[in-house]
Amino acid sequence: SNIVEIRNLVKSYEDGHIKALNGIDLTIGEGEFVSIIGPSGSGKSTLLNMLGALDLPDSGSINVAGYDLLANSKLNEFRAQKIGFVFQLHNLIPNLSVVENIEIPMFTAKMSNSEMREKALNLLDSVGLKEKASQKPSKLSGGERQRVAIARALANDPSIILADEPTGSLDSKTSNKILKQLIDLHREKNVTLIIVTHDMDVAKLADRIIEVLDGKLVNANDGSLLENSI
Ligand code: ADP
Ligand code: ADP
Repeated sequence: SNIVEIRNLVKSYEDGHIKALNGIDLTIGEGEFVSIIGPSGSGKSTLLNMLGALDLPDSGSINVAGYDLLANSKLNEFRAQKIGFVFQLHNLIPNLSVVENIEIPMFTAKMSNSEMREKALNLLDSVGLKEKASQKPSKLSGGERQRVAIARALANDPSIILADEPTGSLDSKTSNKILKQLIDLHREKNVTLIIVTHDMDVAKLADRIIEVLDGKLVNANDGSLLENSI
């Protein structure tokens, strides 16, 4: 079944002068790994923000993980329970240790402190950073911080991970490690993975590549045009 159903989605800024999304139709199956590519300013981040209900569209319909995002008043619940965000400015809280940062999304669930700690350590282990649990984020490298952000994105057992340029500022070795983490977790937990990237080598790892151009989707299911346009 589909975890994302979007029909004729329109989003504009500046009183309608900027059409960031100009009639998007898109369905994504549960457990799918999709990458979103396109030139700068084409609407990729806006689409990701719509999917995570970080911002609302002007018109159309958008249903994600069973939530009608235009009709639903429970958007906080939706974000807290269904979505794992991995954004480039990963906003780890500097005064908290690594393991405490990962516990943040668990506070909405009714878990005891020891349950939260155990789960956070398991998540840290899964991204290979268990030994960094008590460190402050400032002691970690960029790649390690991004892996902490991934572990945190998984802390609420999300249905969907939304990642915006998750490897953007990292060297290729670190970037490969990050991607492997994301893809392993996607496979093991059947989490739907949606990655915005400008890097075709990253995009190609997905089950499907979606290209955004001027706020519209191009050849959503056809890789052949893509090969020519990149
Ligand atoms: P991409 O992620 O593909 O670079 P964006 O979704 O960030 O593209 O932007 C799409 C268009 O919407 C661009 O023209 C951008 O300048 C504009 N835009 C995005 N966010 C805002 C905003 N908050 N206010 C005004 N314009 C915006
Ligand atoms: P990664 O491949 O995960 O980015 P690096 O190879 O960059 O890791 O870093 C190796 C080790 O050096 C890490 O264990 C990390 O703790 C340490 N390190 C890297 N950058 C920094 C930094 N800016 N501050 C403190 N320690 C760092």
